[in-house]
Amino acid sequence: MEIITSPDEMTRIADSARKAAERVALVPTMGYLHDGHLALMREGRRRSTLLVASIFVNPTQFGPCEDFARYPRDFERDCAMLETVPVDVVFAPEPVSMYSPDSQTWVEVTEVTRGLCGSNRPGHFRGVTTVVAKLFNIVKPHFAVFGEKDFQQLRAIERMVRDLNFDVEIIPVPIVRENDGLAMSSRNLYLSPAEREDALVLSLALRAAREKHRSGACCAEEIVFAATRVLKRMKSVTIEYVEAVDAETLSPDPSLDRPILIAIAARVGKTRLIDNTVLAGASPLT
Ligand code: AMP
Repeated sequence: MEIITSPDEMTRIADSARKAAERVALVPTMGYLHDGHLALMREGRRRSTLLVASIFVNPTQFGPCEDFARYPRDFERDCAMLETVPVDVVFAPEPVSMYSPDSQTWVEVTEVTRGLCGSNRPGHFRGVTTVVAKLFNIVKPHFAVFGEKDFQQLRAIERMVRDLNFDVEIIPVPIVRENDGLAMSSRNLYLSPAEREDALVLSLALRAAREKHRSGACCAEEIVFAATRVLKRMKSVTIEYVEAVDAETLSPDPSLDRPILIAIAARVGKTRLIDNTVLAGASPLT
């Protein structure tokens, strides 16, 4: 497994791989890897002859009061996990080699980033789409793998690829959960043992939403209400949002005829967690 820190060097490797008719897959991450990340790596491995994992804690997607400086990092442990896949190249640039101080260009997807996390984290998705566009230009992948855990991010990247004609196929991977249902996240590390227990309420709330949907909810609000009621039982959990949106466009007031996304963001103590589930549409056309 090669470890590359220079964007130019990464591009040289990508260029010669493409010339040699290799199939290149990229899995972008911010490191501190867990089994959710490894599921993405395995999907990339299946589709590629050159699998690149990027590890980059991207400063432009963190707000001034967010956890950029204290975001967990353990490069050696990450590399040991990536070896097991195996990954061919780890691309781990420093922020200074990714952003020149006089950089003026952003990639921004408008509609799908407005609601949900976009309303609470201004500038976040602009940072994500900009760094992913840069990674696509540097690594030149045929495929890029993203988790449904960050569903709005996945939709934003799909839009960016379509709207800007990137020649990359986006591969989504379902959420990987702990045995008890908690969605895996690098930020779960911040949780105290008591908070870790309380955090389970997010997946329980989604289960309540699924049950309400299955038992024939009349409208999306009824499903949101069922999830919110479960979350509110846990006093240590502060709800940021519980929303039902169209799973394709992420627009509010979804029709139950089409697949809908139930998305939650909540703070458990000081830790902000997100989770979601997609409920199938009632119409046979969806
Ligand atoms: P991150 O390092 O948190 O930025 O995540 C890198 C990629 O891993 C993103 O595409 C995430 O959606 C994906 N990911 C993170 N956690 C999970 C999970 N529990 N299941 C599936 N994918 C995940």
